[in-house]
Amino acid sequence: MPGTIKVHDKEFVPYISQEEITYKVKELAAQLNADYAGKRPLFISVLNGSFMFSADLFKYLTIDAEICFIKLASYKGTKSTGHVITAIGLDTDITGRDIIILEDIIDTGKTINQFLPQVRNQQPSSLKVAVLLHKPEATVFPIDIDYVCFTIPNKFVLGYGLDYDGLGRNLGQLYQLKLD
Ligand code: 5GP
Ligand code: MG
Repeated sequence: MPGTIKVHDKEFVPYISQEEITYKVKELAAQLNADYAGKRPLFISVLNGSFMFSADLFKYLTIDAEICFIKLASYKGTKSTGHVITAIGLDTDITGRDIIILEDIIDTGKTINQFLPQVRNQQPSSLKVAVLLHKPEATVFPIDIDYVCFTIPNKFVLGYGLDYDGLGRNLGQLYQLKLD
């Protein structure tokens, strides 16, 4: 298939073009510009995967808006509870703020599901979630997603900030794992 790329040991095929992504990101920005008119929301971008989506979206916002970045790290604990997710770097006071979380992708929903209570605890005046990609078939943790650019099937994607074992984040478009 034309445009097939190899990253580490796996092949990926073109999935969503840069033009389609830009179109959807601009559409989301327009929606946010309307929904938050006259307000000054604080966007919390979840690293690493959301850096490209966040940067592009931010360019198309015309409202007053702030952004900060956090990193969610998951550890395989020794306890039976399994993964523990730790928020690193939420150094901004979010009490009474209009918060919008920016995520690259919601898969099982586990990451965001564990992070949201930490945000709610600090009593923002509103809290919404905006994602580039959502895989509803894979989502098992209950989560309200307020803004979605693309709803996609449960297949591994790469590019536009999303990696496969560290590589592929620099690709300007989205690729999908090639199945033989
Ligand atoms: P969740 O906690 O919702 O299961 O997923 C959390 C993280 O898994 C995402 O933020 C992302 O880093 C990673 N992830 C889930 N699905 C994909 C995918 O299709 N491609 C890539 N590159 N990462 C994914
Ligand atoms: Mg992520």
